[in-house]
Amino acid sequence: MVNGPVRLAVMNLRSLLVFVLSSRLGTGVSVPPDSLPGMPAPVSTPPADAASDPAPAPAETRRKPALSPSRATDFKQCPLKYRLRAIDRIPEPPSRHAVRGTVVHAVLEDLYGLPAADRGPERAAALVEPAWARVLAAQPEIAELVPADELTSFLGEAGALVESYYQLEDPTRFEPESREARVEVELDDGVLLRGFVDRIDVAPTGELRVVDYKTGRAPGLAQETKALFQLKFYALVVLRTRGVLPAQLRLIYLADRQILTYAPDAEELGRFERTLSALWSAVREAGRTGEFPPSRSWLCGYCDYKPLCPEFGGTPPPYPGWPEGGESPDETLAEAIAD
Ligand code: SF4
Repeated sequence: MVNGPVRLAVMNLRSLLVFVLSSRLGTGVSVPPDSLPGMPAPVSTPPADAASDPAPAPAETRRKPALSPSRATDFKQCPLKYRLRAIDRIPEPPSRHAVRGTVVHAVLEDLYGLPAADRGPERAAALVEPAWARVLAAQPEIAELVPADELTSFLGEAGALVESYYQLEDPTRFEPESREARVEVELDDGVLLRGFVDRIDVAPTGELRVVDYKTGRAPGLAQETKALFQLKFYALVVLRTRGVLPAQLRLIYLADRQILTYAPDAEELGRFERTLSALWSAVREAGRTGEFPPSRSWLCGYCDYKPLCPEFGGTPPPYPGWPEGGESPDETLAEAIAD
């Protein structure tokens, strides 16, 4: 029996470190990346453009509050932070790092919209500037984060991350089933799970692989739990929506060219489902009472809500109440990318 995530360093042909996180009980079966080679699209795979643009959920479902990996992590870390972010919807200032991540995600999404033969590194590099222009058009306020005299270096940083991607995967060898897909499922006890999955691959044999891109570095031991939580969350959503246990979940860390993989286990996901249900009950109870206490930790150093936090002499605004039928306290695509 193994307590906590276990790292096994595995060298693949490109001498990349592949971290396989075993389940808490040690029952997870690791699936080396190369056991899902090429992954040509199955006959049933929808066109890439259609797959990347999932049909909108019914308005009634869309409005329902839901749990996402980011929001669940927020609540576990600090209930007050969850409240200010998800219920009060107090915006946090965008960061240069997050904007760069958005651009890189847009490039990779665009890349997989091209015919496989056209997905070479030069073509990917040429996608960076148009992606930036699109991101800027959607959020003109981010212009101040990238002044004109820094634009070249900013685009260079994004281009370097895209270039790194080619050290980890060969996008000409497979056809993803979906890109930037919004996934959502309601569990038996009514908990609604929602999130964004960067990519889903389906092997001809039916094996599923869920992929998430990260533009930062692979997590250290202290952050592994958060990565594992996110992976399990998506594994559970895929299991419940498709009735298929994903063979592999893959986090791709572009900054240091590492891949973190996880082979989920159905029993473990069952336990995880109960954990999420308990967490959601706690969120709803706090939502009912308005009790979202601050929880001070080293992570406060990275919290934009410090000026409103009693732990640092601030005063939060009056509690606006739980957003029943209103705006959902779940994550946006930009938040999913930032995490
Ligand atoms: S500063 Fe710390 S305690 Fe205060 S809201 Fe942020 S994370 Fe919570």
